[in-house]
Amino acid sequence: MSEDALRSTRCAICGTEGHASELYPENFAFSDLTPETFSARRLPDRLHYRIVQCDTCGLVRSDPVANTATLGELYRQSTFDYGSEVDNLRRTYGRCLDRLGVFGVHRGALLEIGCGSGFFLEEAQARGYADVRGVEPSSRAVAQAASGVRERIVCDIMRPGLFADETFDVVCFFQVFDHLPDPAGVLAEACRVLKPGGFVLILNHNIDAFSARLLGERSPIIDIEHTYLFSPATLSRIAQAQKFKVLKTGSVWNRYSLHYLARLAPFPTALKQGVLAFLRRAPVGRLPFAVPLGNLYLLAQKNT
Ligand SMILES: [Zn+2]
Repeated sequence: MSEDALRSTRCAICGTEGHASELYPENFAFSDLTPETFSARRLPDRLHYRIVQCDTCGLVRSDPVANTATLGELYRQSTFDYGSEVDNLRRTYGRCLDRLGVFGVHRGALLEIGCGSGFFLEEAQARGYADVRGVEPSSRAVAQAASGVRERIVCDIMRPGLFADETFDVVCFFQVFDHLPDPAGVLAEACRVLKPGGFVLILNHNIDAFSARLLGERSPIIDIEHTYLFSPATLSRIAQAQKFKVLKTGSVWNRYSLHYLARLAPFPTALKQGVLAFLRRAPVGRLPFAVPLGNLYLLAQKNT
């Protein structure tokens, strides 16, 4: 990839270009950008763009990044492998969805933006949602979806025209929102397709989490996949800027297998490959652990 495939980014809250302080310089050559770089759970990791923080609102972002056409192509070609983590993710996300219960959610129509292979759509069906839909740009991910949800997934990026106004009771983003090149625009579109009083649920990394602060640039969230990195404060601000009423933010306890946690750990690659090879074979590698792995959720409501 050449340098003209890059574009500068704006703060997704303030709309300003520049006006930000550098946290970390970029650490890769542009020719390293391949579909494999963008595939979930790849090795080796730790590539990141130049990371900056908005001087006004504190939102952290990558700047510059691959332009939208290049990024779209990289995601379309990316491979997909949740492997054995699907059951743990289903439960983690399902518990998060259940938090909407106290706010009187109607378990009617639900849309997941960036639904991958649709495993959460199955979970939402199991938790009583009558009509589930997904949007996912990776055709390989959609091809892996179970029959029963595959035909409920549109293979595309979320964009105006996919769904009519006021269609959904709930719109969800699971580990997707911080990947979007234009999160404010997608959130505005989510607002349009929500019924009045409908809910948005966003779950992603927390740049203010203890693990992220401790590891700094070595944190797995400082990664080329993330255009923006949110804290509870900045995630609330971007939702409020799109006219949502923020109901709640909090940290997420994820269930992961020991094998998966080892993949995320900041070990040197050679050591990590040895540890992973052991944990892949050993039964202990499949043991589930609930850990507060630096994720946050936000529940917000469209004005009635
Ligand atoms: Zn800002």
